[in-house]
This record gives sequence, C-alpha cells and structure tokens, in this order.
Amino acid sequence: MCLFCKIANDEITSNKVHENDNFLAFHDINPKAPVHVLAIPKTHIDSFNEVTPEIMAGMTAFIQEVTEIVDIKQSGYRVITNVGDNGGQEVKHLHFHILGGARLKWGHFSDADPKDFL
Ligand code: AMP
Repeated sequence: MCLFCKIANDEITSNKVHENDNFLAFHDINPKAPVHVLAIPKTHIDSFNEVTPEIMAGMTAFIQEVTEIVDIKQSGYRVITNVGDNGGQEVKHLHFHILGGARLKWGHFSDADPKDFL
C-alpha cells in the first residue's frame, strides 16, 4: 500500500485539515509556504494522468472548501499537481499541493530560460 493510501486509511497519522467520504486534506510534512496542504482522493489513483472528470469535479469543490478552512481563499493561493518524472512527482498517489499564506514567488520558473532545458 502506498504512503498516501496509508494516510487515507489512518495507518499513518497526518495533520488533517478537511475530510469527506472521497477526499482528504492534510498539512504537508515539509511545507514550502506558510500554508501548504495536500489534497488527495482516498482511493488510489497514480497521478493526474489517470483521474476522471467525475473525480475532478469532486476534487475541485473539495479544494475550494480547503481554501476557506485555512483562510487563503481571499488572499490567494496556488494549486499544483506534479506528474511523473519530469513533473517531479515523488509520491505516486494523486495529490494537489495547495500553497498560500504569503505572496508566492514563481519558484524555479522565475528566471528560467526554456533553452536551458534543451
Ligand atoms: P510530490 O513531490 O509532488 O510527489 O509531493 C509529495 C509531497 O508529499 C512532498 O511535498 C512531501 O513533503 C509530502 N509528504 C511526504 N510524506 C508526507 C507525510 N507523511 N505527511 C505529509 N506530507 C508528506
């Protein structure tokens, strides 16, 4: 069973923010912003490549609820999902990073030249 399946099953404890029958949100253990929450489906889906539009409909509403609970809805935030090797996905269970609580920089993209990757 993968790491986030164990968190969804309460076999590994997490710092929960929000939960319903299908989705769970918890604080990232290594936060990259003052607010850094991960939202996952409780059933295993490898990545965004495999998720259905129906599940995304529920996930969208769930993420919107999370932004209200952690009070970043009005100040703004960023939602990211990393996919596969080039996307830097470390945990192979679909998750959305919800980052906020401060003015976010555009990270490693801010000064990147696309030619640097060729
Ligand atoms: P990614 O690189 O997109 O796969 O992101 C995986 C994220 O999971 C990273 O931001 C990690 O800090 C986070 N993470 C790993 N293990 C845990 C854990 N046990 N509880 C909370 N977050 C975790």
